[in-house]
Amino acid sequence: MKKLTLEDWERKYIAGPVSEFDQKNTMFMRVAWDETVNGKLDDWSFTGVPKDKAGYTQQDLAFRWAARHGVNMGLFNISKPNVAPLNQAISDVLNNPQYGGRFTRYRSPDGAKVDVKDPEIMTRDIKKAAKFFGAGIVGVCKLDRRFVYSSSYLGGKNEIPEEYKYAIVMGYEEDYDILGHYPTYIADAATSMGYSQMAITNSYLSEFIRGMGYKAMDCTTNDVALSIPLAMQAGLGDIARNGLLVTPEYGPRLRLSKVFTDLPLVADQPIDFGVTELCDVCKKCAKLCPSQSISDGDRTPEPNNASNVSGTLKWPINAETCRMYWGRMSKPCTACVTVCPFNKVMTGWFHKVVGWCVDHVRWADSLYVKLDDWFGYGKPKNADDFWENWRPDVDH
Ligand code: SF4
Ligand code: SF4
Repeated sequence: MKKLTLEDWERKYIAGPVSEFDQKNTMFMRVAWDETVNGKLDDWSFTGVPKDKAGYTQQDLAFRWAARHGVNMGLFNISKPNVAPLNQAISDVLNNPQYGGRFTRYRSPDGAKVDVKDPEIMTRDIKKAAKFFGAGIVGVCKLDRRFVYSSSYLGGKNEIPEEYKYAIVMGYEEDYDILGHYPTYIADAATSMGYSQMAITNSYLSEFIRGMGYKAMDCTTNDVALSIPLAMQAGLGDIARNGLLVTPEYGPRLRLSKVFTDLPLVADQPIDFGVTELCDVCKKCAKLCPSQSISDGDRTPEPNNASNVSGTLKWPINAETCRMYWGRMSKPCTACVTVCPFNKVMTGWFHKVVGWCVDHVRWADSLYVKLDDWFGYGKPKNADDFWENWRPDVDH
């Protein structure tokens, strides 16, 4: 590969004065207004119809259109010039009868549903699609209504219709290196990306399910229900002393979202890989929490205040003092994620071996905690050279 100068590029690609190009002449827009072309086809929508053929079924079609669902976010971006009239024009084009008003979603015109002959296979497909749409890990549980918020913030009772029998719970990894730069603003970028990613993934997965003719309720982290107990029931991980879900893949370094559905699925089973026992002896997050919001005592079903649910056995964190600390620092705090010995990148053999030992050789837990300290894990990274050292190869 060689680099061209702009003069080389001009000589190679520019043949004379370049004519101005009006956006209305893009082929997508001409369909809406240009009579020389729009009468040539009855249906310009390229929506497609399901066929009884592999690759063309309703499930395949729903998958295709679910992945296109985010096109709207780009099309209606508010940073463009002439944004209000442009958005109106785009909306007119998308809703033009020749596009069938279906440009960014597929719904079976006759309300047909994909015939789920084997819920186990459908569960596999849903998990694959969720990962393709951006989830790092995904599990399924029956929707345990004890963990659905009794009311929404606006006061209305949270009525989830009975047909929503399953919750698909997804986890989004927060970048290890970026998060290590706590307590700076940089660290919060990792957490924020988790939230942004879930907005996209959740909406795509919900669209996929709706395109297959089923119902989907799209709930992000703090929406509609408590995420952690559902994630535990879906087999993603276990609750830790820091009040967070700890997973075998990312430790506590993840965000959670869920989609409720009536699609027939098979629930996963909860897992136990040694979190409770390690938290019993570790207490690192309790020692290092800057607002002293984490208990160093035993698990209890008693709440600290209104922000803990009662009746579940755990280390209830003091959300009041924690949140006040965020306010004082003008940013979220991630110390209890970063210092946790479970917070590792689990690709190397050493961490895999230690992870195996934490699960299978639990009597040695205090040794693992000491090892974590000796190796210096969890110490904040210096932000002075962040932009210089972070992903140094940015040619493309
Ligand atoms: S830092 Fe230690 S005590 Fe706290 S959540 Fe992690 S393993 Fe448990
Ligand atoms: S987020 Fe920070 S202040 Fe809140 S519990 Fe965790 S370590 Fe403590």
